[in-house]
Amino acid sequence: MRAQPTASHFIDGAYVEDTAGAVIECVYAATGAVIARLHEATPALIDAALASAARAQADWAALAPVERGRVLHRAASLIRVRNRELSELETLDTGKPLQETLVADASSGADALEYFAGFAPTVTGQTIALGGDDFVYTLREPLGVCVGIGAWNYPTQIACWKAAPALAFGNAMVFKPSEVTPLCALKIAEIFIEAGAPPGLFNVVQGRGAVGAALVTDPRTDKVSLTGSVPTGRKVYAAAADGIRHVTMELGGKSPIVIFDDANLDDAVGAAMLGNFYSTGQICSNGTRVFVQKGIKARFLQRLRERTEAIVIGDPLEEATQMGPMVSADQLDKVTAYIAIGQSEGATLITGGTRLDQPGNYLRPTVFADVTDTMTIAREEIFGPVMAVLEFETEKEAIARANDTEFGLAAGVFTADLARAHRVVRRFQAGTCWINTYNLTPVQAPFGGSKLSGVGRENGHAALEHYTQVKSVYVGSGPVDAPY
Ligand code: NAD
Repeated sequence: MRAQPTASHFIDGAYVEDTAGAVIECVYAATGAVIARLHEATPALIDAALASAARAQADWAALAPVERGRVLHRAASLIRVRNRELSELETLDTGKPLQETLVADASSGADALEYFAGFAPTVTGQTIALGGDDFVYTLREPLGVCVGIGAWNYPTQIACWKAAPALAFGNAMVFKPSEVTPLCALKIAEIFIEAGAPPGLFNVVQGRGAVGAALVTDPRTDKVSLTGSVPTGRKVYAAAADGIRHVTMELGGKSPIVIFDDANLDDAVGAAMLGNFYSTGQICSNGTRVFVQKGIKARFLQRLRERTEAIVIGDPLEEATQMGPMVSADQLDKVTAYIAIGQSEGATLITGGTRLDQPGNYLRPTVFADVTDTMTIAREEIFGPVMAVLEFETEKEAIARANDTEFGLAAGVFTADLARAHRVVRRFQAGTCWINTYNLTPVQAPFGGSKLSGVGRENGHAALEHYTQVKSVYVGSGPVDAPY
């Protein structure tokens, strides 16, 4: 199987190659085969990408927002028409099953483009009365050149979630995909050109951390939006601070799901499974600490075990497959090391914990019970299909323990008592919360983290704050009252 792109990078409206850059091998997670060989961007290509973005941005920002929106709408339509092709590429890039990618990746990218295409023409400023004839009005202006840096779990969605608001509000973007999943963003760059975007408006450069760092520190960069881990977030945030650049940081999590005795058992089990096993557990907002109230715990674990052991794991290109391999051998090793730590620290392995005896990075969905708050698997982000079940007795206790983490990306509660549900989510220290459901992230809803999980928000009206800046204009109507 091959998925070799025309060239490694997409700059100024065209594919570009420079074999002087270090090799990036794209490995198909289901087989271990190399399906594409790309090169990291050289300094000359990084320079070309930023220069073309800066050139394209000025004219793009001068267009009527409704015209920018039309380009984004066309791109969204092209994505929908090509959903299968893009989904297959997403599966090759990540190993996620086609059953998921057909409904969750390109289509959510298209959702974002449509949403921000419609949003752009509605953006207005304020008029502020001062008394007398003078007044102030405000303008919402683009930031300029935005750098997007992606993680490997949702390469199409991340590229679109960053590009859609950036472009809609008049910015240009240079996007660096994760070196683990370099393929999908190139297709999005092609589609933008086909949709009528000017060359240079959305560029893709490949590379590891050093390429990302070069983009972040370049004086032409006005904003950086990173999706990645907390350690990378710390470095990128610090580097961006030197140039006083705007940032959005979408980082990791260790999110809680709190399930009360009165919850619908099958819904709670299903949501906990979705929030731990979808995308082979490689989702930032996963509810990896599942707090189950004492009275329901035995039944919860029994049902969870039955349903988990029925998950169809295997070839991600088979549409019946529900769970594919982990994205890389490195990630598999990292996750299996956490499983060993869980066992050595005394958690009870309910199911899973082992690899499939075949090529590819396959790991059985894993559930631990009797997990305590201090165990490593309850404190650190694992980023794989490993669920930790913890028992609690009272609401107050559950809230305190749910919040006892340095992360604050997401949280969920399951209960039939709606007053309690709202009370609990108000007390959760998390950027995104769910009541009686989990991990649904429609583009209308702002998404992002508190505490170490990040700063800024993607999606929803909140994205406007993070891809524009406000200019205040004081309009003087009388004589200038100068004392000299
Ligand atoms: P990572 O932090 O290793 O890498 C993220 C990106 O940053 C990659 O493109 C990488 O090349 C780049 N990078 C690394 N060092 C850099 C540097 N010094 N300067 C600039 N760029 C640099 O993360 P990952 O392993 O690709 O992804 C998994 C992590 O991402 C998890 O922690 C997960 O929770 C998080 N994530 C968060 C969200 C969210 O929206 N909050 C979504 C998906 C994934």
